[in-house]
Amino acid sequence: MPIAFLQKQFIPFQDAKLSIAVHALHYGTAAFGGMRGTVFPEKNEILLFRLDKHAKRLSNSSKYINYDISPDYIASTIVEFVKQNKPNKSFYIRPLVYNSSLGITPKIQDESDFLIYGLELDDYLPPDGVRCSIASWQRQADVSLPLRGKITGTYITSCLAKTEALSRGFDEALLINSNGKVCEASGMNLFLVRDGKLITPGVDQDILEGITRDSIIQIAREELGLEVIERSVDKTELMIADEVFLTGTAAKVTPVKQIEQFLLPNDRPITDKIKAKFNDITQGKVSKYSHWITRIKI
Ligand code: PMP
Repeated sequence: MPIAFLQKQFIPFQDAKLSIAVHALHYGTAAFGGMRGTVFPEKNEILLFRLDKHAKRLSNSSKYINYDISPDYIASTIVEFVKQNKPNKSFYIRPLVYNSSLGITPKIQDESDFLIYGLELDDYLPPDGVRCSIASWQRQADVSLPLRGKITGTYITSCLAKTEALSRGFDEALLINSNGKVCEASGMNLFLVRDGKLITPGVDQDILEGITRDSIIQIAREELGLEVIERSVDKTELMIADEVFLTGTAAKVTPVKQIEQFLLPNDRPITDKIKAKFNDITQGKVSKYSHWITRIKI
């Protein structure tokens, strides 16, 4: 997208440059968000999904790098960013807070900044379903780093796991946590269906507290009347599950077709219902969930 936000200013993307000595580049002292925007050109309208929740998570992530930035400021800057860019195709917004100091001491530095850029984004994963490997790289433990924040440095593990999966001919990687339980994919949360119940690793399983995950839990309970259980999940449960799917801002609701050599059933009645409801909600078609949608006129 043509306009970026950097050092409190909206400037052309190609002019948004940083020093090679910036602390975040060397030590991963940054935290990011990721949001989708859906464009309805016929209505001159853009919809953002759960802007307040994304802004709150980024504000919370910023606390780990000692940067005080309010959810309201993040949200209003994102809205202004969208207005300045006037995108005409669906897009992804990447806000980032980062230690901007040029200091070389590996400590949390006092100088920080907030930037935003955006890009066009259609499907991130094949919407009809993905094949997943079980990564040899383990998800980090919360005792080592703040997994509730989207800290950039953390993502080396996702990068290694995803690259390994692709090199083995899979689409996506599932990661095991330090307790030997399955927790999530490289950038998505995980759900499985067993005997009509929806199961997802709990927030004590070293997952990222996904905003799509939170939405799906509410939709499943309130709209589909499903029992939703948050608990630890064993690897072997996945292989015999009735349905498995991934959720995330980029991935939306993506069914899993295969895990390692284990094929999952092609019939996915619950995943299909959840996906359809979620898509309707993100497109602003369900008035009950209108509080999840920010409408921006362009
Ligand atoms: N886990 C990880 C590691 C992620 O990076 C993401 C993407 N933000 C998710 C889960 C899904 O989170 P959300 O639904 O908030 O996009």
